[in-house]
Amino acid sequence: MPTTPPSLAPPAAPPAARRPASAGPAGASVAQKALHKLGLVRDIDLALHLPLRYEDETRITPLASARDGQTVQIEATVTASDVQLRPRRQLVVQVDDGSATCELRFFSFYPSHQKTLAVGARLRIRGEVKGGFWGRQMLHPAFRQAGGELPAALTPVYPTTAGLPQPYLRRAVVSALARADLSDTLPPGAEPPVASFYGKNGLQRLCSLREALTFLHHPTPDVALSTLEDHSHPAWQRLKAEELLAQQLSQHQSRRERDRLRAPVLRPQPAQGTAPPLHEQLLAVLPFGLTAAQRRVGEEIAADLARPVPMHRLLQGDVGSGKTVVSALAACVAMDAGWQCALMAPTEILAEQHFAKMIGWLEPLLAARGRKVAWLVGGQKKKERTAMLALVESGEAALVVGTHAVIQEQVRFKNLALAIIDEQHRFGVAQRLELRRKLAEHGMEPHMLMMSATPIPRTLAMSYYADLDVSVIDELPPGRTPIVTKLIADSRKDEVIERIGTQVAAGRQVYWVCPLIEESEALDLSNATATHQDLSEALQGDEAHGRAPVMVGLLHSRMPTAEKKAVMALFTSGQMGVLVSTTVIEVGVDVPNASLMVIEHAERFGLSQLHQLRGRVGRGAAASACVLLYATNDSGRVGETAKERLRAMAETNDGFEIARRDLEIRGPGEFLGARQSGDALLRFADLATDTHLLEWARALAPQMLDRHPDLAAKHVARWLGGKSDYLKA
Ligand code: ADP
Ligand code: MG
Repeated sequence: MPTTPPSLAPPAAPPAARRPASAGPAGASVAQKALHKLGLVRDIDLALHLPLRYEDETRITPLASARDGQTVQIEATVTASDVQLRPRRQLVVQVDDGSATCELRFFSFYPSHQKTLAVGARLRIRGEVKGGFWGRQMLHPAFRQAGGELPAALTPVYPTTAGLPQPYLRRAVVSALARADLSDTLPPGAEPPVASFYGKNGLQRLCSLREALTFLHHPTPDVALSTLEDHSHPAWQRLKAEELLAQQLSQHQSRRERDRLRAPVLRPQPAQGTAPPLHEQLLAVLPFGLTAAQRRVGEEIAADLARPVPMHRLLQGDVGSGKTVVSALAACVAMDAGWQCALMAPTEILAEQHFAKMIGWLEPLLAARGRKVAWLVGGQKKKERTAMLALVESGEAALVVGTHAVIQEQVRFKNLALAIIDEQHRFGVAQRLELRRKLAEHGMEPHMLMMSATPIPRTLAMSYYADLDVSVIDELPPGRTPIVTKLIADSRKDEVIERIGTQVAAGRQVYWVCPLIEESEALDLSNATATHQDLSEALQGDEAHGRAPVMVGLLHSRMPTAEKKAVMALFTSGQMGVLVSTTVIEVGVDVPNASLMVIEHAERFGLSQLHQLRGRVGRGAAASACVLLYATNDSGRVGETAKERLRAMAETNDGFEIARRDLEIRGPGEFLGARQSGDALLRFADLATDTHLLEWARALAPQMLDRHPDLAAKHVARWLGGKSDYLKA
């Protein structure tokens, strides 16, 4: 409820985007700043700034029929007006509308308010009625002189910010709506699958963008409010369809731009004398044969590499499905033809973990050809770094491995042909943009292969990732035993520790994951440290029963890299029985002997994240298990939704199914990472419910780019403004 009486609000000039902010009165320039802060710069931005809810000022309600708690508008005469000092200073006004009386109370007021609220004045008042028969009250109602026409439409209430009063924003929207070019950008005959609705003249028809916006800003009072709240109203549907179309157009556009670029044509080389080609040598040293799925995606990638346009492919495959080898084979083809490859992971420890095996296989093969592997990571010593940079620049390094340090300023590739990015969704938008810019520096664009173990649900693949080609490894290497997942209340932690003891005694290894507490790294650390101590004590051995002490290690994100590496080495070599860690081991760690994964406070994790963690076990032949410890509240129960979510983990090992449920429960943030944080790029559409609109937009976008390029450009500019870059990252 606005406390500023409408009639007393300062008469602010309507904001004109083209006018400098200083042109208006002081209040207006504050408001202008606030508008900019909300991203409301162009007329179209204001036109697309939709109400949060509405107030009904279209009718006058007799006081006698107002229910307790109802917000109503009345017209009444002031019968008394006093300033009371107890219990605190306040203005108390009695009004009577002929049907009943009501007391208005104001704890902050100005002399001008008192003047308007003088005895005898007839006022239009709007507020929430409290109390009933024995005395009605309104606290800080809005008021102004009675009379004047009642509005025909509901009054919009907009999302706003400090310094931007509702009345100012309302006026700004009204004038922007009048000024903005809202002419339809949809090509003739391309109506979205949106139900028709009754327009002002009572005729049932499809609405144009202008009609949809006019209606949503100022709906007629007969509208079913629920259809505005759940966005199912045809006017909402129309907007969502347009928004999705803008996104699809932008994705298709960026794909077409990419298709105009040139990339090196990479084909497997013939044997050099007696030496077989590099990829064949790699296949020969692998201690296993490829799965059918690995061979299939390998061929998809090879076909891309053999084309003169840059590949932009996402290689998706569940944890442990063997993506690294597939990418290594692609790298071999490029390196064999004399080009360079870059291999990137989001963190140093992941880079090391992900690629250690592969580099172990490749390094000797490359060395035999006089070529090297260079490492580029953040905290490198200056001397080492300089040496590495020289290797990269001269082209002596065929393979450049590391974090995003690989693509920083000073790095000059001699001839980069292929960039492989592991766990691509963990790179932020800014980093991905930077990467593409960096890679585009030379006339030739390199091919890009991105890898992710987080399966992208179909609707996301169709929208945010529409300009990517996707290859899926849908089969795990043979000989893996399915992981059994159990939900256990944390009150039974002792039993779990018992079990750890037996596992380790049987020669197995165990992970214990403590949750990352985002707000407090310190708390996070102390939690992991305490758990580490508890487990060390519980597993310190028992000579009487012939039990040897178990080495329990600790790994957390704040540790210096060297220390992390030392801990990992002890665990990988099997000397360390139990590894307590925060989620730094989330992806990529490969210790086949580990067969038990315990996740504390599992309810704090997203499902896809749990799935990744669970994938750390079940990599060898031993039967593996994952224990999800959940915290119970005082009454001994975990929240029902939390439990429901966790149950999904016990029910399925299928990463796609889990991702689908995650999307339902948590929205796309989980998948999009940094892209999603801050500005939600889809403001109106909801991928979980608007699939039919998405399908419509997806089919229309390429046609529109072909046949109506001007409309397409106008549509994208209108909806995305400067944001379209981000959609391409
Ligand atoms: P991810 O897809 O999670 O990155 P990795 O590439 O790390 O999986 O592979 C997981 C493990 O499986 C590694 O130890 C790898 O050497 C092994 N591996 C990969 N392909 C096969 C295969 N076809 N047969 C057996 N083991 C394989
Ligand atoms: Mg991997």
